[in-house]
Amino acid sequence: MEDCIFCKIAKGEFNTEFIYEDSEVVVFKDINPIAPVHLLVVPKKHYSSLNDDIEPMLLSKLLLTVKKVTKQLGIDEYRTVINTGETAGQSVFHIHLHIVSSEKLGPIC
Ligand code: AMP
Repeated sequence: MEDCIFCKIAKGEFNTEFIYEDSEVVVFKDINPIAPVHLLVVPKKHYSSLNDDIEPMLLSKLLLTVKKVTKQLGIDEYRTVINTGETAGQSVFHIHLHIVSSEKLGPIC
């Protein structure tokens, strides 16, 4: 989607450092972290929110990516959040999962 910030980030338009990337998903640090670890898991394909008609395989992929990345980073305890809709706190209308942890990231980040 043309005016979507996360579409632009996922396409590499801002040279954002990706903690993880594959053909469907990117993971990068939240620009305004609320904890020592605050990452965003973002699909490359645009969906506005969880309320959209999203392929089940992609939903599964997003959660599997949370598991994969936290394991790679050695983070055992974390919160996973999806804000859906403005009154629930969604500010970027491209679906994403927050990974929030008070654990610290190691040297690979
Ligand atoms: P939400 O409020 O659930 O929609 O989450 C959107 C998140 O995206 C917020 O935590 C923002 O800090 C974060 N964010 C917005 N723009 C950027 C950006 N350019 N790079 C990284 N994170 C961003």
